[in-house]
Amino acid sequence: MSRDNHDNVIALLATFKHYGETATGGLTRLVYDAHWLQAQQAFIVQAKAYGLTCFIDPMGTVYATTPTRNADEPVILTGSHMDTVINGGGLDGQYGVLASLVAVGELLAQYGPPQKPLGVVAFSEEEGSRFPTTFSGSRWLTQQFNGQDNKLRDTQGVTFDAARQQAVAQLATLVPMRTTPIALAAYLELHIEQGNILNARGDELGLVTAIVGQRRLAITLTGVSNHAGTTPMIGRVDAVAQAVALMHELYQQLPKFDGLRYTIGQIMVSPNTANVIADAVQFSLDIRHEQQALLDEVTRFVMAQVAAGGGKACLTTDISATPLSSVLLEKAAQTAAQQHVRVHKMISGAGHDAQVIAQSGVPVALLFVPSDQGISHAPAEATADQQLIQGQAILQALLYQLGYQSS
Ligand SMILES: [Zn+2]
Repeated sequence: MSRDNHDNVIALLATFKHYGETATGGLTRLVYDAHWLQAQQAFIVQAKAYGLTCFIDPMGTVYATTPTRNADEPVILTGSHMDTVINGGGLDGQYGVLASLVAVGELLAQYGPPQKPLGVVAFSEEEGSRFPTTFSGSRWLTQQFNGQDNKLRDTQGVTFDAARQQAVAQLATLVPMRTTPIALAAYLELHIEQGNILNARGDELGLVTAIVGQRRLAITLTGVSNHAGTTPMIGRVDAVAQAVALMHELYQQLPKFDGLRYTIGQIMVSPNTANVIADAVQFSLDIRHEQQALLDEVTRFVMAQVAAGGGKACLTTDISATPLSSVLLEKAAQTAAQQHVRVHKMISGAGHDAQVIAQSGVPVALLFVPSDQGISHAPAEATADQQLIQGQAILQALLYQLGYQSS
């Protein structure tokens, strides 16, 4: 394979950076907006140039596959999402889409159609940055899409359904629409790490063993409002004092759970006035761990602490910890070893389309390339070209093994 071919992913990234580039060098491409439409259209053009067969689904996710024997044949799918956060970087999501496109396109050009069909996916939405919903593309594909999302509105009052229909109608002028989800043999996602573990270790590729489960609790303490000057200190029922004591206790106790990530990131005081004793404090606690059993144990512990501190806790987010395919992980490790790439087996602290698809029972592999200084969701998001090319080459070798060599 020539070096020129490997540079294709860098050239494509430079081209796609134009679809939503911001004044500060970032990227804003929200699902179903004009830049999103440009990017999905450009993806279709590039995929057709590689000789891939393109179609869309009702969410506006674009698929580009090698020839299939029939419409129900399971596809080895690889890709990521095409949307971004507001003023995000140029790699989150679209690196995985474009590296997958180059990998599958180059394999088809060199070796012809594989024994098992390969497909590239550009998911419509993952970030939740326009409507208050996330992973709608991969949830639709795995039949986990809740039709209630259709009624959600963006900040301009446009509904998800109206925006979707208008954008998807434009894509449908270019390629056919498939209204039933394709069958998946496996899903591979190549993504930037969005953290600093690989760089800190001097490793070049992250092999994700599991994606953390996440729970979020809203914890409320109740007090009695009164005058800050005339109410004696003794006998006050001060919600802030209760909340501080409880938070202090949590910060003291939670480190004993090995590997737990815990964050108190939001605090709301009522009435939030300098000369009034607070009648309520609500704060968030976000806990993440790759083992569901430990997450359950921590949740029980926190609930007991909150009750002992006189508060109430309500679970507002509950996403299961998701182990990924150990078979695919080992194949990826072997592929990397053949190419003398330093790998690190790691947990993903962030959710990805890979998590949604793995939860539907499909074998999934998630590979990370390093992120410079761990920066993501910001214009400064960056990865060295050589590492981007290397990630794409490993993905391509892995797809060759799965599509052309497996019996
Ligand atoms: Zn992403």
